[in-house]
Amino acid sequence: MDKNHLYVLSLLEHNNVDIESLRPYAERHKVPIVDKVSLEMIKQTIRLHKPIHILEIGTAIGYSAMQFASVDRNIQVTTIERDESMINLARTNFKQFGYEQQINLIEGNALEQFESVEDKQFDMIFIDAAKAQSLKFFQLFTPLLKTGGVVITDNVLYHGFVSDIDVVRTRNVRQMVKKVQQYNEWLMQQPNFNTNFLNIDDGLAISIKGESK
Ligand code: SAH
Ligand code: MG
Repeated sequence: MDKNHLYVLSLLEHNNVDIESLRPYAERHKVPIVDKVSLEMIKQTIRLHKPIHILEIGTAIGYSAMQFASVDRNIQVTTIERDESMINLARTNFKQFGYEQQINLIEGNALEQFESVEDKQFDMIFIDAAKAQSLKFFQLFTPLLKTGGVVITDNVLYHGFVSDIDVVRTRNVRQMVKKVQQYNEWLMQQPNFNTNFLNIDDGLAISIKGESK
């Protein structure tokens, strides 16, 4: 890690220490929760944009959902997770940290759960599940995003492989990285969205929905 990155991390160290206590658990158990500088960027976007209804694809242990909800008591997070053990951990964490009222966890494959959320409209969508599927999640759920709403996609530079695919030897990872490349290029071509890419942590894409053309 470069010195600036370490320095910024040291400045952020005392933010939200309660939920942050889940990070060592996530690292030990290889649960890929959103990195710290990215998280603080997303929370700052929430403070600026003031979303009330947030949709998250990929809950894992509930870390990011609780972090988002912690910005304001009025925020309601709907989050979708398919993995049974993650679902159980997330529910336990929501209870332990007092977020049961603010977070609604939907169980199942997000690609099959459109009906569970289609009665809602969202101000923000966070895409952070299977990386090869980001495009499908975007297409499926952004019709529920209000004009002016924000889509944030995590891991768009996946481990530095997206900009340097030749270093990837495993076929599966290569396939996935190719999908991420295609997604990023496709995002830039969407006439209804203005997208910005941030080279922080594992890469964030921030897309803002304009008027449909
Ligand atoms: N957003 C979390 C981390 C999510 S990790 C955080 O930052 O704290 C990605 C999660 O997405 C994993 O738990 C995985 O089980 C889940 N996932 C992957 N593909 C999915 C799908 N199609 N539907 C629902 N969940 C999915
Ligand atoms: Mg992520």
